[in-house]
Amino acid sequence: MDSNPQRGPAFLRHTGQKVLLVEDSRMFSTALKYRLEKELGLDVTHCSSMAAVRTIFQGDAPEFALAVLDLNLPDAPNCEALDYVISKGIAPLVFTGSFSDATRDQILAKNVLDYVVKDNPAAIQQLVLAVDRILTSGKTQVLVVDSDPESLEKQVSLIAKQRFQIIAVDTGAAALEALDSHGGIDMVVCDIALSDMSGFDLLSEIRKRHGDDAVRVVGLAQSEDRMVAARFLRAGGDEYIQKPFLIEEFNSRIFHVAAIQKRVQTLHRIAARDYLTDIYNRRYFFEAGPRLVEQALRRGELMSIAILDIDHFKRLNDTYGHEVGDVVLKAIARRLKHRVSDRHLLARLGGEEFGLIFNGLGLDEALDYCERLREEIAAQPIDADGEPLTITVSVGLAVISDRETFDNYLNAADQFLYMAKHAGRNRVFSELSLMKALAS
Ligand code: GH3
Ligand code: MG
Ligand code: MG
Repeated sequence: MDSNPQRGPAFLRHTGQKVLLVEDSRMFSTALKYRLEKELGLDVTHCSSMAAVRTIFQGDAPEFALAVLDLNLPDAPNCEALDYVISKGIAPLVFTGSFSDATRDQILAKNVLDYVVKDNPAAIQQLVLAVDRILTSGKTQVLVVDSDPESLEKQVSLIAKQRFQIIAVDTGAAALEALDSHGGIDMVVCDIALSDMSGFDLLSEIRKRHGDDAVRVVGLAQSEDRMVAARFLRAGGDEYIQKPFLIEEFNSRIFHVAAIQKRVQTLHRIAARDYLTDIYNRRYFFEAGPRLVEQALRRGELMSIAILDIDHFKRLNDTYGHEVGDVVLKAIARRLKHRVSDRHLLARLGGEEFGLIFNGLGLDEALDYCERLREEIAAQPIDADGEPLTITVSVGLAVISDRETFDNYLNAADQFLYMAKHAGRNRVFSELSLMKALAS
């Protein structure tokens, strides 16, 4: 998502990418160039003839993200421009007035991204959407699962043609493993008949582990039985494609699901943020936290959870005012965000309280981590309107070892936080401090 929501429509995300437009009709080329530049932020180079295309590639041709190409040009009536552009390693999107089944087969046999027929006023809009889709798909990761090597290869090659990023695996187990280890998979395209489990079992395991929204799942099956599709969709599948399929149908369904997923992700990102500090909020912490813990326990990895609370924050508010309090909250959040790596989870739980989940860290390591955070915060005063304010924090830290409810882990951290406050603040408390106290 665009990190700055003020910057206008999200579809300007392709700003600066270069597109080659080969089109002899002045009306179409003017309208297209205008819209591609205005709406998608693209940098369009227009050629109205085959000769002009050749001239471009005689010099230092820019790196084109794709080409939008009219099939018939006055000096190249037989798709010569198409072959030429492909030979230069640029994937073309075909825009054509003349169209027959033979042309379609001919186009799809080549390395063409998609085609749009110029036979109606909506064609320009369709083309702008197709360009947007293709430039967006590069940011979408698709996991393709099929136990039949031939069918796997076919889907991978179709999806790769549309520029998606791909991970291909041949079993359900490998798919689950890939989803656990690669953070960014947006959608799964799986055959229903896998060698080690059914697509239904894979789907239900994905939903159990990753929830309903983290990943979209498209099922594919050879079966003539319409109930298979119904069962898959009812089990929470997002889309179903029956084999054999038309390439256009396959591409449209995949693009449609990818677009929905991008929108869902954008909404999630907005809903997961704390409005004041722009780090994750409480809702996200309680949504993602249990999932992280579950994944770590399944992999047999260590994990720790902490609550960090600013000391005497009420006094600070009372002395300097609520606005200065806000400045301090933002500064502390910024520091924590800067210091805590992305593999851990950091969120504002509310007020002046932050939650941390240390992925892969046992008690000793997490304790070191928290001590360093605490020391750094205490050592660097925060600038509030020119006045340096020394802020301290207290931390309660608990290790996650056995399977318990998420609330239990958090309560343990909260109890240690309470002890840290009681013992004088500006300190980290955990089981270790408790044992030390008992030993002395
Ligand atoms: P302790 O050291 O025991 O943690 O004391 P404390 O004063 O930090 O804790 P307490 O829970 O008594 O007070 C928290 C204060 O945080 C009270 C509340 O007004 C203030 N607060 C909560 N949310 C915000 C906020 O968004 N902005 C500001 N400026 N203050 C907030
Ligand atoms: Mg406090
Ligand atoms: Mg508090």
